[in-house]
Amino acid sequence: MHIVIIGSGIAGVSFAEKCRALSVDTHHPCAITRITLVTYEHDGYYSRPLLSRGFTKNDIENSIILKNFDKIRENGINVISGAEVTAIDRQAKTLMLNSVSQEKSLAYDKLILAQGSAAFIPPPFQAFKDLFFCLNSLVDLKAIRAFRQQLLNQNRKPQWAIIGGGLNWLRGCLRSCCCWRQSDGVSRHGSFNGASIGE
Ligand SMILES: Cc1cc2nc3c(=O)[nH]c(=O)nc-3n(C[C@H](O)[C@H](O)[C@H](O)COP(=O)(O)OP(=O)(O)OC[C@H]3O[C@@H](n4cnc5c(N)ncnc54)[C@H](O)[C@@H]3O)c2cc1C
Repeated sequence: MHIVIIGSGIAGVSFAEKCRALSVDTHHPCAITRITLVTYEHDGYYSRPLLSRGFTKNDIENSIILKNFDKIRENGINVISGAEVTAIDRQAKTLMLNSVSQEKSLAYDKLILAQGSAAFIPPPFQAFKDLFFCLNSLVDLKAIRAFRQQLLNQNRKPQWAIIGGGLNWLRGCLRSCCCWRQSDGVSRHGSFNGASIGE
């Protein structure tokens, strides 16, 4: 049996590892012979909660990674990284994967959806995505850190406007939130070309 898991967060990785640990009897008719983890992450399995420590550690890009994908592969789990699942055909039991602009299909016997969640972007802001960041993945954090570094290199102090007042906001950071790029000095005072931000 071929099990395919979409997502390399805690749900996907722990499911894959537990499944591998339990599938020792490969001669059983229902035995799991292959486990494949598909993810569009490149960096490995990392701790998403630690994203909220994004500005308090210099080497967060590395220290946040709990296991690189090679380590997971050593455990008999096939990892397809940098690939986005774009379609599922339940009748044919196949997935469509988009990796480096190439589409290919992957057959499965059982499919596990472990894609987590995405930051909510208010619909009126969708058109202005290049004017703000989200913080929900390591890729997002790297982009925010690079932007901040650019300003620091120019001896400028970044100022952030944050939407999203969850736990990490209290920790002095940002969670699944959107933050404005304020470096142009333009204060937007909670509205975005007329779209109200709300509470
Ligand atoms: C900044 C931050 C701080 C947090 N702090 C805490 C905390 O303190 N305590 C707490 O309990 N929780 C916290 N959370 C929430 C916690 O991280 C999530 O609940 C948890 O990561 C969910 O795990 P998951 O495996 O379900 O999904 P995720 O960790 O979101 O993983 C989903 C995976 O699916 C992949 N994926 C999604 N769609 C596709 C697709 N179409 N094709 C291929 N791959 C895909 C993604 O790349 C990702 O690897 C925090 C989250 C964030 C963002």
